[in-house]
Amino acid sequence: MNPLLLVTGGSRGIGAATARLAAARGWDVAISYTRDAAAAEAVAADVRAEGRRAWVLPADVADDAQVQAMFARLDREAGVLSGLVNNAGVVDVAARVDEMDIARWQRMFAINVFGTLSCSREAVKRMSTRYSEGGAWAAAGGHRGGAIVNLSSVAARLGAPGQYVDYAAAKGAIDAFTVGLAREVATEGVRVNAVRPGIIDTEIHASGGQADRARRLAPQVPMQRPGSAAEVAAAIVWLLSDEASYTTGALLDVNGGR
Ligand code: NAP
Repeated sequence: MNPLLLVTGGSRGIGAATARLAAARGWDVAISYTRDAAAAEAVAADVRAEGRRAWVLPADVADDAQVQAMFARLDREAGVLSGLVNNAGVVDVAARVDEMDIARWQRMFAINVFGTLSCSREAVKRMSTRYSEGGAWAAAGGHRGGAIVNLSSVAARLGAPGQYVDYAAAKGAIDAFTVGLAREVATEGVRVNAVRPGIIDTEIHASGGQADRARRLAPQVPMQRPGSAAEVAAAIVWLLSDEASYTTGALLDVNGGR
């Protein structure tokens, strides 16, 4: 049986690239999404073309009940996971803080922060060796450790002034959560790390009303170009792998030097 990985928001961009590369490296892969079922199915087809098993799970990570149902379905249909990539994330239109409202902040934190916390909680329950005797997933092969990779952003360090300081604050929370959870479960076979991408050429910029953002900001990057989803996926899949066996609590910048 291949190890099982869940990539939230795996239907496009960095999540899709991660699902494809992980399949090539031997993982069975489940991907979640909220809107575009056809895109998610296309990624799953690529995973299956590598000879791996794939699942497509419609679930909003901001909804704790949907997260729990998603993990329960994986338990039933796929087995116990040993990898989780908390990739689902959103930006919003560029604005100053004094132009933002609470509805925007609630969505920003519900998806980017609470989604990561909910999924991580469910993963740790299944992965942690703390429950190896008599734990709920012991008979199903759980409680044997695992790896979690969170998607933070260079914005956590730079603050994204005039763009989306609320997004930067949410990613700052991801950094603190990554370090804290990594230390909390360090003796329980679970490694927790974050990747902090810089400007990556995906559709997320168009969703914030700036389709040309990656190319426009390229001159600010020491390498003078945006990164690709595949370049971020390479770092994520390394952190998931046994090659990163002594790496936990790390915040790995993948940003062309920015
Ligand atoms: P993207 O192209 O917009 O893809 C986002 C993915 O998340 C899609 O599969 C989307 O599918 C899914 N998604 C959105 N809301 C969701 C929700 N509530 N529940 C479950 N899935 C949801 O984004 P990306 O550029 O690949 O970014 C991926 C991650 O990297 C994000 O956390 C982002 O903050 C981070 N990041 C990106 C960049 C960059 O420059 N691209 C830089 C730094 C950090 P549906 O629309 O079908 O739901």
